[in-house]
Amino acid sequence: MFVCGTLGAYPNSWVSETSNCFVFSLMFSISVVVIACPCALGLATPTAVMVATGVGANHGVLVKGGDALERAQNVNYIIFDKTGTLTQGKATVTTTKVFSGMDVGDFLTLVASAEASSEHPLAKAILDYAFHFHFFGKLPSSKDDVKKRKEDAFSQWLLEVADFSALPGKGVQCLINGKMILVGNRALISENGVNIPEEAESFLVDMELNAKTGILVAYDGNFIGLMGVTDPLKREAAVVIEGLKKMGIYPVMVTGDNWRTALAVAKEIGIEDVRAEVMPAGKADVIRIFQKDGSVVAMVGDGINDSPALAAADVGMAIGAGTDIAIEAADYVLVRNNLEDVITAIDLSRKTFSRIRWNYFFAMAYNIVAIPVAAGALFPFTGLQMPPWLAGACMAFSSVSVVCSSLLLRRYRKPRLTTVLQITVE
Ligand code: ADP
Ligand code: MG
Repeated sequence: MFVCGTLGAYPNSWVSETSNCFVFSLMFSISVVVIACPCALGLATPTAVMVATGVGANHGVLVKGGDALERAQNVNYIIFDKTGTLTQGKATVTTTKVFSGMDVGDFLTLVASAEASSEHPLAKAILDYAFHFHFFGKLPSSKDDVKKRKEDAFSQWLLEVADFSALPGKGVQCLINGKMILVGNRALISENGVNIPEEAESFLVDMELNAKTGILVAYDGNFIGLMGVTDPLKREAAVVIEGLKKMGIYPVMVTGDNWRTALAVAKEIGIEDVRAEVMPAGKADVIRIFQKDGSVVAMVGDGINDSPALAAADVGMAIGAGTDIAIEAADYVLVRNNLEDVITAIDLSRKTFSRIRWNYFFAMAYNIVAIPVAAGALFPFTGLQMPPWLAGACMAFSSVSVVCSSLLLRRYRKPRLTTVLQITVE
């Protein structure tokens, strides 16, 4: 009693007769320590990230960690691969033109034999087309029947191939009957010194202007014919691109396909910035160019050739139907193969981090108000003293309120495209 009074820190009358000044001060200090426990601050981020990861999975967006979730909110550029990402990846051959007087059947057998060992979607389209050309009219009785008949047919029908090599971004080359066959794009044919006749060239340009991919074939050093392949665009592609622009994100298309086809496709879906005839390694360079000024770049792709770019991007998003390597290299997997999920992924990230900011605000505001009260700031005026048990209850309540605020994310609804298109960016 005497000491308190001597120091003049507070009047002796504050301390009740059954207590002493040490206990009196200790009560305040315990309350302060309990209230100031930073549980709520610690919970603000991990709880929100955990809830968001689950919510994303429910909507078909798998997130591989909090870092990726955080980066997606700030995306400035989004780079799309063309084949299999913006398009359905279901290429079909629409045109075949033979220029050498060779029989169409022989031409198709030759091309199909060369493509049989390739894993490229275009190769698959060519094989299916050639198969149907030969066996048209024989309706299969079941899926297994188709498979078996294909295997039987191919084993008898396809020609023997030697020295096969797949040239990424260009096509394939191999030996058939001891002669070199090249199947691929212009670059492959002209690199090998094969001359493309003018008639074929103008036919090719026509196809490319109609968003088809031309595949050229040279055999034994001579140009023998070409095929046109089309891959329909995903239905939602154009609306998603428009939606991304409304969200303030700049869309870009990158592809290994030729310039004319790429520009025709880009025009159809409303992308102005196109990088075509890009080799697989070049796709990662395109990402780095956009990253140079510190922008956050996202890449959406599906193929093996997209993997370096998916890994180089700040946010890599792989289409679920894509190759395993692409899925492995990406931070996000869009399981439903629907481009709308690109918008969902970015929107979820934005909502999650605005929730985290609210969580911090709650936790901080709470401490700013409660700590002075626990320290006895109101005691001289109102006699209000927060006992440690009440401080404990308040502390628990602040943690619970932050967790509840994070759980509100479970009510997340993915943006409807019509709503996204109404958003105007200030
Ligand atoms: P994308 O970037 O659009 O996925 P790729 O890099 O896989 O394209 O291929 C680029 C181009 O190379 C194709 O548009 C095609 O012209 C040619 N090409 C690649 N592989 C093959 C193949 N197996 N058969 C024919 N052409 C091919
Ligand atoms: Mg692709």
